[in-house]
Amino acid sequence: MSVEKYINKIMQSTMQSTPGQVEFYQAVEEVLSSLLPLLHAEPKYDNLNILERIVIPERQIIFRVVWQDDAGRIQTNIGYRVQFNSAIGPYKGGLRFHPSVNLGIIKFLGFEQIFKNSLTGLQIGGGKGGSNFDPKGKSDGEIMRFCQSFMTELSKHIGETIDIPAGDIGVGGREIGYLFGQYKRLTNNFDGVLTGKGINWGGSLARTEATGFGSVYFAENILGKQNDSVKGKIATISGSGNVAIYTIQKLIELGAKPVTCSDSRGMIYDKNGIHLDTLKLIKEVNRQSLEEYVIIHPEATYLPVHKYPENTNAVWAVPCDIAFPSATQNELNLNDIKNLHKNGCKLVCEGANMPTTPEAVAFIQSNKILYGPAKAANAGGVATSQLEMSQNASMARWGFSEVDNKLSNIMKSIFDLSYNTSKEFGDEGNLMMGANIAGFRKVADSMIDQGAV
Ligand code: NDP
Repeated sequence: MSVEKYINKIMQSTMQSTPGQVEFYQAVEEVLSSLLPLLHAEPKYDNLNILERIVIPERQIIFRVVWQDDAGRIQTNIGYRVQFNSAIGPYKGGLRFHPSVNLGIIKFLGFEQIFKNSLTGLQIGGGKGGSNFDPKGKSDGEIMRFCQSFMTELSKHIGETIDIPAGDIGVGGREIGYLFGQYKRLTNNFDGVLTGKGINWGGSLARTEATGFGSVYFAENILGKQNDSVKGKIATISGSGNVAIYTIQKLIELGAKPVTCSDSRGMIYDKNGIHLDTLKLIKEVNRQSLEEYVIIHPEATYLPVHKYPENTNAVWAVPCDIAFPSATQNELNLNDIKNLHKNGCKLVCEGANMPTTPEAVAFIQSNKILYGPAKAANAGGVATSQLEMSQNASMARWGFSEVDNKLSNIMKSIFDLSYNTSKEFGDEGNLMMGANIAGFRKVADSMIDQGAV
């Protein structure tokens, strides 16, 4: 059977055995199709059924999460932990709390995480989890009771050398704190079972900033290859959460001008450049809608989502040199990339996971727009989580610039590995292909070494 037919067969059987998991199929299709040059060169992967194995999680845990709201009513959510692949290390990946969460979304994120973690060069396997719980509008007490109930089940399946969850959408420092407190109460262990912890109780300096900073470092590497840099560039960013805020901060530090940010309700355009302190106050301290931004900065404009042109994300209609999708999956479609291209954007660097639709990725590739694919560009978060684990295991504590320097070096080595692999397989500069092949090869070879498990 040809390699193409073999991949097609795996896609068909994945769709048949796991119906309705569209985001998962999208992630699998992207990885498998970009492995073609490797599979042509190395028959061992299909001879040993590596692809069939790698698309099936080693374990998936689905559980009921029951908690009491402030009015005394009993509420019920679904919890997930997908332990996807442990060939190169213990499972590692974030927890997402968002009403859109289902098994297909957690599986897409867990699948991506396998290759991302491999690319970092660190010993971490791939996993992901979360719940359809919506933290928005909940009191602190409600968030705490939910986290405690969620951890009561999750604690049976994780451990510092087994599975080490972290944050993702809807799970930040507050949630990690409540989750860790409950884990400790249940197990009597103070260990590094979660990352993204508070600085006073085992967290690493620069972990909060890491994904956003890392994404900008990755963009610097891409532009550096063209003897260019982010300095002086107009940047558009979507999202206004952890990744977006620290992307904006690093861009400002390096002399770029970020002019947009967004949340699920609308977007801000500030031609003078996003005011970082205001953004942090609104989102990190007050947890408000971005609409508040224009009250403090009336020269900026706010556009609510219902006024976006049809089938368009208005963030990507703002003229820019470089774009950083940093909110969620499939937030940049074909219309959006055409808008970006028309307005002269030369680089799309993905802070979010799978933010660009397959049609938009194809447009990026055929129009030679520079592209930082998520599993490489946003790997700084998980890499710094591993640095947090190293500090916990050795009882060490590194300074901010020490961690930040390590992060910057890791992002450079991820870029070099992805770039060199793209060159090795005859499509120099195709970082999506380079990242997928490099990430896959290390995991697949480890699976082969470890036998039929
Ligand atoms: P946060 O919860 O901190 O922020 C998410 C942001 O995206 C918020 O502004 C949120 O708006 C917006 N958003 C979420 N869902 C939607 C949606 N369906 N439509 C429009 N806007 C939306 O999450 P993070 O910043 O941590 O994560 C952002 C992305 O980065 C995700 O794809 C995540 O998987 C990825 N990522 C995160 C890492 C990390 O270390 N945190 C590491 C690697 C990747 P609102 O507040 O209104 O919901």
